[in-house]
Amino acid sequence: EAKASDFATWRIFDPAMRNRKRERREMERDLRTALENNEFELFYQPFVDAGQSAVSGFEALLRWRHPEKGLVPPGLFVPLAEQTGLIEAIGVWCLETACLEAASWSSDMTISVNMSPVQFKSTRLVADVDRALSMSGLDPRRLQIEVTESLFIDESENILSILQDFRKRGLTISMDDFGTGYSSLGYLSRFPFDKIKIDQSFVRDLSRPENIAIVRSVIGLSRALDMKVLAEGIETREQMDILIREGCLEMQGYYFARPLPASELPRMIADITARWNGDLRIQRQGR
Ligand code: C2E
Ligand code: MG
Ligand code: MG
Ligand code: MG
Repeated sequence: EAKASDFATWRIFDPAMRNRKRERREMERDLRTALENNEFELFYQPFVDAGQSAVSGFEALLRWRHPEKGLVPPGLFVPLAEQTGLIEAIGVWCLETACLEAASWSSDMTISVNMSPVQFKSTRLVADVDRALSMSGLDPRRLQIEVTESLFIDESENILSILQDFRKRGLTISMDDFGTGYSSLGYLSRFPFDKIKIDQSFVRDLSRPENIAIVRSVIGLSRALDMKVLAEGIETREQMDILIREGCLEMQGYYFARPLPASELPRMIADITARWNGDLRIQRQGR
């Protein structure tokens, strides 16, 4: 029921709200034709393995090249794509594009694809993955799926069975943004993830002892549960050094490379490879 107080609020905020509603409507209209107009692109950001001094894989990150607004980051349109159900078709496009791209590489590096919890509501998700694999010819062991804790907010056997289906095919599953979601840790014991990605919010300020403590315990947890661990959002040499010291050798962040279009990947890999003897050189101390 509308109350007088609601009405007052509405009147005060009316112009701003109308603008926001119009913006949303326009974005939804544009999003509906974005796929057929070929406006989506995948950018790729490397996973760097300091133990091997090598790039170990890439995460595919979605971008929308809007005809007027330019390059739109996923944070601005993925939520709307989820609310409208468009994420299902967009997700299929991401899977197919990422698999085709990775199948064209001369190395057997991992390609990691983000999946929204909404995609897990589709009965076709496993079939979509199968199609992306068969059309691209990609070895399933090279395909990694990134999910967030929000996937486990409600207990669902269905979600576990889809993850098992992925696993049966040889895919690996990463827990993204670990430590930021609203979720219990119980799912970690019910489903064995291959990798935990430590969220960048903990990496951002490692001068805070609290964040070091969290990072250290996540690394310990991943070891105890026999999962790999990767830290996100490394922007400085100092952060890299702390993570290596704490035992997390796989990393991702602007310090190594920003997400870039596929055409830039050979140059990006060459650049990082050259840096192993320069600013990325690891001081190995006898311990
Ligand atoms: P995410 O999967 O956690 O991806 C990491 C985000 O952090 C990316 O933002 C990346 O560009 C950014 N990042 C990487 N290194 C650094 C760093 O050193 N510093 C800082 N400040 N940021 C860094 P992006 O590309 O804007 O993506 C945001 C989120 O959108 C992703 O978070 C993911 O949840 C979602 N997303 C991206 N692509 C897809 C997709 O294809 N499907 C779905 N469903 N979601 C996607
Ligand atoms: Mg991710
Ligand atoms: Mg993340
Ligand atoms: Mg994130």
